[in-house]
Amino acid sequence: MNTRDFQVAVIRGDGIGIDVTEATLAVLAAAEARVGGFRLVAEDLDGGAAYYRETGRDMAPGAEAAAAGADAILLGAIGLPEVRHADGTEISPHLRLREDLQLYAGVRPVKAYPNAPQRLADPRAGEIDLVILRESTEGLFYSAAVHDRSPVETDAEVQDILRITRATTEKLHDFAFRLAGRRRARGGKGLVTCVDKANVFRSMAFFRKIFDERRAGFPDIDVSYNYVDAQALDLVRQPWAFGVLVMENMFGDILSDLGGGLVGGMGMAACAEIGDAHGLFQPAHGSAPDITGQDKANPLAAILSGALMLDYLGERADLEAPGEAAALIEQAVHQGFAENRLRPMEFGGDMGTRAVAREVVALLRP
Ligand code: ATP
Repeated sequence: MNTRDFQVAVIRGDGIGIDVTEATLAVLAAAEARVGGFRLVAEDLDGGAAYYRETGRDMAPGAEAAAAGADAILLGAIGLPEVRHADGTEISPHLRLREDLQLYAGVRPVKAYPNAPQRLADPRAGEIDLVILRESTEGLFYSAAVHDRSPVETDAEVQDILRITRATTEKLHDFAFRLAGRRRARGGKGLVTCVDKANVFRSMAFFRKIFDERRAGFPDIDVSYNYVDAQALDLVRQPWAFGVLVMENMFGDILSDLGGGLVGGMGMAACAEIGDAHGLFQPAHGSAPDITGQDKANPLAAILSGALMLDYLGERADLEAPGEAAALIEQAVHQGFAENRLRPMEFGGDMGTRAVAREVVALLRP
């Protein structure tokens, strides 16, 4: 069989980012060995807050170019609360990568697993299987401090910008409709909900107008609309009713944490950031300094992000094997919870980062 190599730029970053990346690489290697037909060639790149403290740079020389040249980027977590720029903001080279590589589609699956904590009493919470699609290059993060774009910044007043462009929004909505189509083909819902605040902001009315324009190209996908405040309520009241939720950057930032909480905690919150030519995969959680170095972090968010990476690589290369490996990882996590073989400390269990990774690797053995 021909083996296809994929170059993966690995940025372990800070805090638990380092531990969960190690766990993810072990699981990816096991899935690769099981399926065959492809090989992940990892290149470690230095970057993050600890690196900044040592060197005054947030990424190593040449690291950004290497990341841009790879087939995919795998990132642990970046940021340490005690390491900051003069304006008080944290070290965030990943925000610059998002911008430079135009990773506009932030994909954040929210899926309930058996025996993982269910935060809602309603038994239908076991059916939660939605995706928050967070635009990741503009919206209110357009003027994130790292970009230095605040139009007014004095000691008396500071303004930030919420930017919505037609070019990015068209691609984002198309991505949402295509994703819903793929989910439906795999037995899920073919539903996209446009989450906005179109009743108050012109930028949001524009976001919804483009949603309506683009939906015409996907007649077999169902659509609905929700204002972001009502969506927050609905995510608690009936999260099982949703499929793909597409929204502006800041709304997605907030609601994806809510989503992570619904299915256990941040240790389950996987994330893919995808653009036209690049993909970056990282857990949605941060570096969690409170549990750093204690082998306590739940690596499943990072491991499931690794599965998203395999899916992406397979799709881009039009190769089935990586997608098969991704499905096997998801299945292993599902089976692990169902058989009570995965008991992360995050949920009061007895398994630290390494034990969870070992068990997922064991579940991947034929
Ligand atoms: P950021 O702003 O970068 O998202 P943050 O400091 O606001 O980071 P996180 O680092 O995501 O927040 O974590 C918040 C808390 O959630 C942590 O302090 C930790 O207790 C818990 N947590 C986050 N990720 C995990 C994980 N993988 N396993 C266990 N607990 C976690």
